[in-house]
Amino acid sequence: MHKITVLQGDGIGPEVTKWAVEVLKYIGERFDHPFEFDYGLIGHAAIEATGDPLPEDTLVKCQSSKAVLLGAVGHPMYDNDPSLKVRPEQGLLRIRKALGLYTNIRPIKIFDELIEASSLKPEILSGADILFFRELTGGIYFGERGRKDDGHTAFDTKQYSRYEVERIAEKAFQGAMKRDKKLHSVDKANVLESSRLWREIVQEMSAKYPEVEVIHMFVDNAAMQLIKNPKQFDVVLTGNMFGDILTDAASQISGSLGLLPSASVGDVVGLFEPVHGSAPDIAGQNVANPMATILSAALLLDISFDMKEEAEQVIKAVDDVLLAGFRTRDIASEETAKSLVLGTNEIGQEVLQALEVRLNQSVVI
Ligand code: NAD
Repeated sequence: MHKITVLQGDGIGPEVTKWAVEVLKYIGERFDHPFEFDYGLIGHAAIEATGDPLPEDTLVKCQSSKAVLLGAVGHPMYDNDPSLKVRPEQGLLRIRKALGLYTNIRPIKIFDELIEASSLKPEILSGADILFFRELTGGIYFGERGRKDDGHTAFDTKQYSRYEVERIAEKAFQGAMKRDKKLHSVDKANVLESSRLWREIVQEMSAKYPEVEVIHMFVDNAAMQLIKNPKQFDVVLTGNMFGDILTDAASQISGSLGLLPSASVGDVVGLFEPVHGSAPDIAGQNVANPMATILSAALLLDISFDMKEEAEQVIKAVDDVLLAGFRTRDIASEETAKSLVLGTNEIGQEVLQALEVRLNQSVVI
């Protein structure tokens, strides 16, 4: 049995995960994979039901799975009241730590059909295809912090150990070997000691991967280069905070949050989720774009189950739907005909149909 735990979460989470699960079930049927789905609570939904954003029962289910598919967490009541002590996002931070998910993987790719939706010029974007490896459980977000001088001075510390850098760099080198063998390691080694160690280790490890071209880049330059010439990047390796900022900036390359998948992996379980949040402004209206979550399911197939062909077919099915002109509201332009602007359920159905057509064709060939 291939066990997958589904954490639908809050807001649009249940609406978009529904379609990713449908796609996985269909892949399971067509390729004869024994997927087994189990459901757990996280975020606001879990707080409402149990008082805890990550109940023990959910964690146990995830720990006994090969992969976790997550919608999103978050609810406006917490965003409007920072003093609330129990918060949905604590569930996310805890699950990352508990499952040892130290690498966040984010593919950023431009769908040619949507190139006009980006705020960047088409000639700069066309062909851009970047794979980010962001360290997720260390660095300044997890370092010592506090206040001194009666609260008038605050500090956060950034710390990385050799072990932490080596394990994520290994994943990035392996990722680069499967692609164009070009790795940008992004740091701030001209200023930060933790970055100097980071650079030293990546440099040492490059001896093990002589085919991979390693380029060290300072984070400020990387931010500029991503916007100026995104096509120069293939694989990008970076720390937690730099990665947080760079991947959000890079998300604009694709034009919409509704299309960006992500994977968080460690050594055992993988967690797959769209980059977007719970979008409470559109929850329950059947307008959310489920494609980011469907593409996260494709990453799940590829990374957790090594089902490359299946993953490829899902990505191509999404592409087919876009090529046919169908759009959800977030990626529709003024020129899109009204009849082509579909709701969450309708676009999910289109992806399933496109998948069926593709798989039937490949059987005939
Ligand atoms: P968001 O990503 O939820 O929404 C930003 C904007 O993008 C909104 O206008 C929303 O309608 C739109 N959008 C997002 N996903 C979409 C989709 N699939 N289809 C169509 N439109 C989509 O970010 P936010 O508004 O800053 O945060 C809302 C809540 O989500 C907050 O509580 C926040 O804490 C939480 N959040 C959770 C995660 C996560 O679970 N990983 C990530 C980011 C934000």
